[in-house]
Amino acid sequence: MSKKIDIFLTHLHFDHIQGLPFFTPFYDNNFKINIYCPYYPNISLKNVIYSIFNHPFSPICNKGIKANINFYELDFKKNKSVKIDENIKVEFTKDASHPISGVLIYKLISENKSIVYATDVESPKGFKSKIIDFIKGAEVLIHDAQYIDSEYYNEKNSKEGFGHSTVSMAIKNAIKCDVEKLFLFHYNPDRLDNDLERILKDAKKMFKNTFLSRELDKIDLRS
Ligand SMILES: [Zn+2]
Ligand SMILES: [Zn+2]
Repeated sequence: MSKKIDIFLTHLHFDHIQGLPFFTPFYDNNFKINIYCPYYPNISLKNVIYSIFNHPFSPICNKGIKANINFYELDFKKNKSVKIDENIKVEFTKDASHPISGVLIYKLISENKSIVYATDVESPKGFKSKIIDFIKGAEVLIHDAQYIDSEYYNEKNSKEGFGHSTVSMAIKNAIKCDVEKLFLFHYNPDRLDNDLERILKDAKKMFKNTFLSRELDKIDLRS
C-alpha cells in the first residue's frame, strides 16, 4: 500500500515551494502526495508545481516524478475544510495581509486537538476577530516571526506592509487566541542560531510556552 503525504501550501511564493524538487518521496512510486494550495483564478497549481521540476529550473522534468501526485486548489469561498484521514480534518481561513493575494491559515484537527499554521501574515494591531475565533484554543500555533520590533518599525528601513510579523505580534496573537504553545517560524534569513536563541529567550519572558520551529521537528499533540 502506498504511503500518503499531505502538503498544505499557504500560498505559492517561491520560498514556500523551492524545496519541493529536493523532497525525495517525489521520486518513489510507493508514495501518494496530495498538494493543497489556495485557488487562484487563471493559475493552475499543477502547472506551477511541475514548472519547478522542469527546464530551466531543473533537469528532472515531469517524467522523473514517480509518486502519485494529486493537486487540490482550495477555494475559500466555496469550502472551509478538507478531511485528509478518518480522524483528521484540516480547516482553513483566509488572511489578506500578505501581498498580493493573501494566504490561507490552516488548522489541523484530530481528536479535539488542533494545530494552526499561520505564516506570511502581518497584524500590527493583532489578528482580526474572525481569525482569532478560528485559532482560539488551539494546542499549537505556528506563527510568522520574521522580524523583531526594531527592524519592523525602523524609521529608515521600515518593514511595514511586507506581509510579515514581528515576534511580539506572534506573542500577542498567541495570548489573544489562548493557545497552549507558540512556535516561532519564518525567520529572517539573516539570523544566526545565536540570534534565534536570544529571540527565544526574550519571547519566553512574555509567553513562557514559546519554542523555535526547527527543521524535521515533529509535534505530538497528545503530549
Ligand atoms: Zn510569501
Ligand atoms: Zn514566505
